[in-house]
Amino acid sequence: MSPDKTNDSALRARALRVIPNGMYGHQSARRFPASYPQYFERAEGCRLWDVDGRQFIDYLCGYGPILLGYQHPKIDEAAARQQKKGDVMTGPGSVMVELAEEFVRLVGHADWALFCKNGTDATSTAISVAREYRGSRKVLIAEKAYHGSAVWCTPLPGGVLKEDRAHFIYFKYNDIESLERASEEAGGDLAGILVSPYKHDVYVDQEPVNPDFAQRCRAICDEKDAILMLDDVRAGFRLARESSWARLGIQPDLSAWGKTIANGHPISALLGNERCRATMPKVYVTGSYWFAAAAMAASLATLHEISSSGYLEHIVRMGDMLRQGLATQAAAYGIGLRLTGPVQMPQMLFDNDPEYKKSFVWGEYLIGHGVYFHPWHNMFISAAHSENDIKHTLQVTDRAFEVLAKSPLAA
Ligand code: PMP
Repeated sequence: MSPDKTNDSALRARALRVIPNGMYGHQSARRFPASYPQYFERAEGCRLWDVDGRQFIDYLCGYGPILLGYQHPKIDEAAARQQKKGDVMTGPGSVMVELAEEFVRLVGHADWALFCKNGTDATSTAISVAREYRGSRKVLIAEKAYHGSAVWCTPLPGGVLKEDRAHFIYFKYNDIESLERASEEAGGDLAGILVSPYKHDVYVDQEPVNPDFAQRCRAICDEKDAILMLDDVRAGFRLARESSWARLGIQPDLSAWGKTIANGHPISALLGNERCRATMPKVYVTGSYWFAAAAMAASLATLHEISSSGYLEHIVRMGDMLRQGLATQAAAYGIGLRLTGPVQMPQMLFDNDPEYKKSFVWGEYLIGHGVYFHPWHNMFISAAHSENDIKHTLQVTDRAFEVLAKSPLAA
């Protein structure tokens, strides 16, 4: 099928008339190689089908939410059962209390839970709570870290006023000196530090957190009676069955969650400790859909699965197998490749590839052969990726490396 005669291209042409710029946000396929699909027909397990019937083993997992596989029966049945009883109602379902109790049981620092819809709701609410806590204004965040699409954090400048960011001070992730400089600049007006569990910025190699840096974040907040906020929206429950710095012995005051917590159903959460409890009634946050019960039922079922299944060990094992396979293949073809990030959230970038041309050639080969990789964003492995899926993926990647090795880009 010629690429301009596909269902996908027809939809893209129609979208140009009725959807801003044809598509917006992080799911726009516009910046991908031409053969990447924009529209999908369905998804199941670790597989996606596009609107032209092509099937892919998916390494994006909906950009993170799909932890247990698309259409996980236990999760989707829990949501459907609640949906039948009532979803958006004039008040929440009893499942809200059960869900909050389950979060408090699972996540060490959490004494309460507030539910919202997107990760941005949770990170934005965290900022408001931190500022209200002591009436201070300055918030420290890492340069280039993604915390959502509100005016205070969106990566593009459109519609953002200088004033929207007037009280944010930026530091370099993992750089203790720059963190301390930012804290000095904030002086006695420090509301808090918002930080991701490791450096998972787009376009670049991922970096594990330096435990000393994490300790310093906690210590500065303690010294200044400020709030440590962990943005666990992307990494939450993919690194631990706890908040992501718990294994370092560091607990935040607030943590923002989204994505994995309901395996794709729309819900996010802000979790907080006793220290922040008294501040909460003073911060007004809400939304028409924030109390919808079906997503809460899905989240409760997801938390049960997180507690009771070996999903975490499985995604690490699958991620390890994929990483080792890719590294061996790249070395065999003499291709410089950097595989960074936790194995279950892999980032893959080629050496000497400032414009991602190698990623494009390589990724396009994969798309043509039923594997969906991202050219510059970290990827995700779900509990539905099996050993056979990884083996099949590695057969395709081997040929993709061969194609790249023979292309002029390899020179
Ligand atoms: N924080 C992090 C670390 C994220 O990865 C994301 C989403 N990619 C967000 C916040 C915002 O979440 P959402 O897109 O659900 O608003």
